[in-house]
Amino acid sequence: TLEMTPTEIIVLPTGKKVEINTGLFINNEFVESVDGKRFETINPSTGKVITTVAEATPNDIDIAVNAAENAFEKVWKQVSSSERGRLLYKLIELIRRDFEILAAIESLDNGKSFEIAQMADLPVVIQTFEYFAGFAEKINGEVIDSSDDKFLYTRREPIGIVGGIIPFNFPLCMLSWKVAPALITGNVIVLKPAEQTPLSALYLAKLIREAGFPPGVVNICPGWAEAGKAIASHMKIGKVAFTGSTAVGRSILRAASSSNMKKVTLELGGKSPTIICAGADLEEAVKWAHMGIFFNSGQCCTAGSRVYVEESIYEEFLEKFKEHAASTKIGDPFDQGTYQGPLISQEQFDRVMEYIEAGKNEGATLEMGGERHGNQGFFIKPTVFTNVNESMKIMQEEIFGPVVAVDKFKTIDEALERAHMTNYGLAAAVFTKDISKAISVANKLKAGTVWVNCYNLVHASAPFGGYKESGHGRENGKSVLDSYTEVKTVCVNLNLPI
Ligand code: NAD
Repeated sequence: TLEMTPTEIIVLPTGKKVEINTGLFINNEFVESVDGKRFETINPSTGKVITTVAEATPNDIDIAVNAAENAFEKVWKQVSSSERGRLLYKLIELIRRDFEILAAIESLDNGKSFEIAQMADLPVVIQTFEYFAGFAEKINGEVIDSSDDKFLYTRREPIGIVGGIIPFNFPLCMLSWKVAPALITGNVIVLKPAEQTPLSALYLAKLIREAGFPPGVVNICPGWAEAGKAIASHMKIGKVAFTGSTAVGRSILRAASSSNMKKVTLELGGKSPTIICAGADLEEAVKWAHMGIFFNSGQCCTAGSRVYVEESIYEEFLEKFKEHAASTKIGDPFDQGTYQGPLISQEQFDRVMEYIEAGKNEGATLEMGGERHGNQGFFIKPTVFTNVNESMKIMQEEIFGPVVAVDKFKTIDEALERAHMTNYGLAAAVFTKDISKAISVANKLKAGTVWVNCYNLVHASAPFGGYKESGHGRENGKSVLDSYTEVKTVCVNLNLPI
């Protein structure tokens, strides 16, 4: 038997006290890990420890998978699709009730602006659960008319046990992108939050129990790479949904192929281009391009880290863009009006500073930023490079910080050619008032999402994912339901002679 963990009281920067249980959430109970291991979770705004959290090791993942298997075989399979929908709607109600608490935990643990967590993160979480809850009774097989002497139909069956591995940048959103489609298609799930941001997932676990989900249907096991590896290579897990870096994505594919050939979807990194054409609404382009890179301190898979501006408007754009970047408030995520918080960790801070050094050493011009903000936490000022070319490290590698390169182009063909000069293909944007140009550029861009005159707008109903090394498969939208189900073809002989 596993040792139960006690509930802790954490005082949020808003002054509110919340109860969080920092055990592993298995079978609707919070338990200590088998070997009692714990790890610290840090407030990135101060560098101080918030609390410690039980650390899942492969043994714990095994226990969670067995709990999930038991729940799937003995309980969840018999729960009707409508009831699954009702449970998700109940969960949404609880998320709405505790909206502010969840947003505050997210800001505390991740460092993102509390206002933005309420304006962006939590609404996306609710939208995602609502979108998928609506599919409850709407997932069907089909009848295939082949000939009169046979009856041919398909069924959509749950895969069984799904594994989810998610990153630190949008902890609750990423959780919802995995949990909602998994549950509505009748699967059970073992999810590992990122080691930097386990707290909001643990609070949500409490709400999952309160909503009435049967024990073992959702299991949340905070941990490090070792726990992620155990999920990716587990023989009983039939599908793994991963969001994170391309390097780890490769190892997930390898682990799947060398274990049980589990199905894999991967949402990976990016180096997304923003193309701004002469004649575009410049004020709008400045605001969106700014949001494209500096939103969430640049820690977005979709970050528009390469901005290509048509020569004739380049100087004007650059001036306005720098002005805008200089005017946004950076600092304590809980201060009113804060736009940019810290990076997630000392490690990430160091990595981003190394990229800034590399940019300088390779001859790019540092227009602004490039240094620490304040004297505590992991803040880096908005950083803008110009005079860049595609052979530079800062133009090829995902920086995952508030660092952007702005350069000029002469023709749209040149812009497209340069846009495609990376191994990534997650997102891209084009700014123009010319509708034909907008659509023809959108058609040509090799990216899973193209934004026209906007950036970073995602919706649960729209497929999301990457071309090239940015991913495998798509999340969100109707089509994701395919990747959480097995299709079974049934052929009934009506009158066929042997
Ligand atoms: P990461 O790849 O280092 O970690 C992601 C998760 O994988 C974490 O939970 C981590 O513990 C786990 N992990 C690490 N090594 C593992 C291994 N060998 N086997 C199994 N699991 C392992 O990524 P990160 O630094 O947390 O997040 C940033 C990355 O996520 C960026 O590359 C970003 O582009 C990407 N991202 C992509 C999307 C998308 O939808 N395409 C969305 C958000 C973030």
